[in-house]
Amino acid sequence: MVNAEFVRMLEDSGIPDADFDVKCMMEQITGSRFASSLNPEQKQQLLDMIQQRINGEPLQYILGEWEFYGLKLFVGNGVLIPRPETELLVDIVLDWCRNRKIHHIIDLCTGSGCIALALKKHLPDIKVSAVDISREALSYARKNAEYHHLAIDFYHADVLDRNFAEQAQNADIIVSNPPYLTSAEMQELQTEVRHEPALALFGGGDGLDYYQTVTNLWKSVLHSGGMLAYEIGWKQGISVSKILKSNHFGDIQVFQDYEHRDRVVTGKNF
Ligand code: GLN
Repeated sequence: MVNAEFVRMLEDSGIPDADFDVKCMMEQITGSRFASSLNPEQKQQLLDMIQQRINGEPLQYILGEWEFYGLKLFVGNGVLIPRPETELLVDIVLDWCRNRKIHHIIDLCTGSGCIALALKKHLPDIKVSAVDISREALSYARKNAEYHHLAIDFYHADVLDRNFAEQAQNADIIVSNPPYLTSAEMQELQTEVRHEPALALFGGGDGLDYYQTVTNLWKSVLHSGGMLAYEIGWKQGISVSKILKSNHFGDIQVFQDYEHRDRVVTGKNF
């Protein structure tokens, strides 16, 4: 088995989860997590990946793909890596759609398209629109939609732009994982996260800019009885609930992720 020497290279550079990282790299290069030998070309490929990892590049960017809600998604520089916590947001939206007649869902700040794609995969008859301000992110989202043969209407736009919101087609659900990190959190990012686009992470001084503006601008796009569902930072449950309340949303609920931290806030438009 050849893994051990490569695991050691990563460990010596202080990379956590070195064993897992090497297995993922091996799998991508050879099709197996435990290759018994590597040809010179494969060895060079692995060494290049190890070097990128030592430089702090996230494993997901090095592999160029990552799984979200059972879907393989292409990722790379310029797009936020889908996080497992975000699957909770998908679960909650899918749950809401059970026994309701839903026609149109809008995903704001779609990034890799992970939420929009997971929803469309499970609700093939519903129209799904997805918006992002980053052309780089959208090019990944489009590629991901094509790869999975999922028809999503993508828009390149700023979700904070009033004109754009006013022209949007009405929806039954608006879902969003907007940038929500605070200035203080941006200062303390892990090395890997520093490689991800700040545009997808930074939510203004207190991290709440998007919740404030999006809730206000997009409320009129929601049908009455429609749901607004946000992923939030784990300390933002109370503040985001307040923002929804002051915009006259009802049935406001905060959901916790598998680490028992507040992660999703939903409200109903009355
Ligand atoms: N969950 C991401 C992080 O912790 C932040 C994503 C976001 O701002 N929407 O790095």
